[in-house]
Order: sequence, then structure tokens, then C-alpha cells
Amino acid sequence: MTAVSDPTANSVVPDLLDLPPLTAAHFARIEDKVAALLHTRCDVVAMQGEALLPLEACIRSAVRPGSTVLNIITGPYGETFGGWLRSCGAEVVTLTAPFTGAAGPQQVADALRKHPEIDFVSLVHAEAATGNTNPVAEIGAVVREHGALLMLDAVASVGAEPLLTDEWGVDLCVIGGQKALAGPAGVSAVSVSARAWERIAANEQAPRRSYLSLLDWKERWIDGGRTALPHAPAQLEMLALEQAVDRVEAEGLAAVITRHRAASAATRAGVQALGGLAPYVVRDEDAAPAATTLRASEGVDAREVVAAALAVDAAVPVQAAAGALAKEMIRVNHYGRAADRAVVTASLVALAGGLRALGVSVDAEAAALAAGAAWDAAVAG
Ligand SMILES: *Cc1c(COP(=O)(O)O)cnc(C)c1O
Repeated sequence: MTAVSDPTANSVVPDLLDLPPLTAAHFARIEDKVAALLHTRCDVVAMQGEALLPLEACIRSAVRPGSTVLNIITGPYGETFGGWLRSCGAEVVTLTAPFTGAAGPQQVADALRKHPEIDFVSLVHAEAATGNTNPVAEIGAVVREHGALLMLDAVASVGAEPLLTDEWGVDLCVIGGQKALAGPAGVSAVSVSARAWERIAANEQAPRRSYLSLLDWKERWIDGGRTALPHAPAQLEMLALEQAVDRVEAEGLAAVITRHRAASAATRAGVQALGGLAPYVVRDEDAAPAATTLRASEGVDAREVVAAALAVDAAVPVQAAAGALAKEMIRVNHYGRAADRAVVTASLVALAGGLRALGVSVDAEAAALAAGAAWDAAVAG
């Protein structure tokens, strides 16, 4: 994209207007780049809205009255999925894992054995809001053996950790651009397996002639060889998605993933050396590379810690958790460009200063040393 100077601000702004139309071939090429990123040979549909659009579209397309579904809840999004699943007329079996850990393949296997009629499983890969990640490879193998469809919300994992859609048996894999890809929030994408297409086509209740319709995209776009777009593409967002994926490719997906892992390891190690806070997710292997959640000490309100940390440095990606967890959980976002050594260091410095201001004794020097060592170890592999 070209840039022009803005005479009023005396700075460079991107030129967003008067672009040539985005062609069908270009739109298809962007979908193919996303497919490569997801390690899938299945159809990928780019959808013109934030990732909640394809997530709802998947559920309404694949789930019908009489379905029994397993909804695995490991954070706030699972609750949302449960509401959609019920509104489709499905019987919902809920498996809830504590936000301090992950769902396990054994629990999933037990639920499937107890309810052999389950034909759809919804799972969130990584939870940015609660800082945990689930073992999708193992859970996917269990679901595949049972024969149910597997929907995965990979919005907070794509680019931050391995995502092997086909190898793991994920039938519907949803991503957005706004987390580790450091891209746009206004377009998203979903991969759809052949099994999922069959199920959706057989579902009389699946949305048709609707913004929520996956079938519309199949009939009007994919089946016609992706030569004519069904409506005007969200051009700016699609171009931004392409730039984001290209930038990941240029850096190397493995390097981007390593940066996120290093940010997670450094934040966890730094906080443990700091004192006054503890990682909310107990085991390292259950910690999401995209964000680290922290627990405030007994009697200390997490919101006050966040406010005090931001008073030290307003630029750090530290926030209080939403909703019921706000009093006890602090979230350090280190996804996208924030998966960066300097950002992690600054976050720890701000948390140290904030805690000190609240009268909590901390060891900022030990935190910096531990974070640096953990970053180096993660990069060395
Ligand atoms: C961020 C995220 C989304 C997208 O939702 P927003 O509320 O728009 O950020 C969906 N699922 C998961 C697991 C996410 O982390």
C-alpha cells in the first residue's frame, strides 16, 4: 500500500481511498494464504466480520434440533457458544475446566463415552481472556475416533502456537487477524472440512441467504471456482489481512511462534521472581503463548494493581480481567507486536512499580533477570 503525507498532521498516513477494486482472484489468493497458515487443504472461507461471525455461522450451520453437542468451556467464549448451541435446539453437554488449567483428552473421552449420541464438539484452542491453552492434538484424536465434528476457536492461537488443522482433525477452524497476527479485527476466516460441508448441506435449519450462511459462500463462491465474488469485498480489511499473513511469512511462522512462547515464559518467570503476584495458570504447558494471566495476593484487588501499574507506564499491555474475575485476575497481553522482549520487560517494571506503590514488597531486579533468562532459554529452544 502506498502512503501519502497528511498536511494537517504533518505525518504519514496510509492511503485508504481510491484503491482499485479487489478482484476475485486476489480475494481467493488471500484465502489460500490463510489456508497455508492453518496447514489445511480444506476450503477456507474469508468472512466479512469479526471472528464471532464465523463462530456463530459454524454453530448455526452444523447444529440442528436433535443434535447432542459437547461444549468444552475453558474461558468466557465457551459460555457464548453454549447459548448459540441451545438456540439451535441442541442438547448441550458441558465440560468445564478450571481457568487455572486446560481441558484434558481423558475428560473429553469420558464425556463422549457417557453420551455416545454427541455429534458436534466445540472447543477453544487458546483463551486470551483467561490465559490458558488446550491440547487440541490429543482432544482432536479422541473426537475423531468418536466420529463427531470438531469446531475450534483458534483466534487467540493462530500465529502464537502451532495450529495443525488437518493433522489434528479439526473440521471447522476459525481465526481472526487481531491477535498474534497483529492484523485487522474486521475480517475472519474459517476452514471447512468435506465432512463438515456434508453435515451443513444436510441441515435444513442451516442459514441460507444470510450473512451467517457458510452454504451461500459454498454455492456462490467456492462451487463456481471462486471466479465471481457474491458481494463487494471488505477491501481494506482483506488487504490488511494479507499484509499481516505476509509479514508472518516474511519473519517465519516458527520465529513468530517462538516470540510468543518466549514472551509467555519470560512473563511467567519474571512474575514468579518478582513476588506479590503469581501466574493464574498453574502449569507452563497449559499457559497460552498469547497472554499471561496473573493472580493478585490475598487481600489485594487486581484492578488496583492494574491502575497502579498503568500509572507507572500507561503504554504497557496490562489490563484487569473482565466480569466476575476482575477483582482477582490481571491480564498481560503479549500477542502480535507486543510479543517482544522490551514490552515484556516494561510490563514487569510497571507491575513492580505499581505493587510497590500499593505497599507490596517486590524484587524488580530478580524479575528482570529471571525474565531475560527465560526469554533466552525459549529462543534457544
Ligand atoms: C479474542 C478472541 C476472540 C475474538 O473476540 P473479541 O471479543 O472480538 O476479541 C474470539 N475467541 C477467542 C478465544 C479470543 O481470544
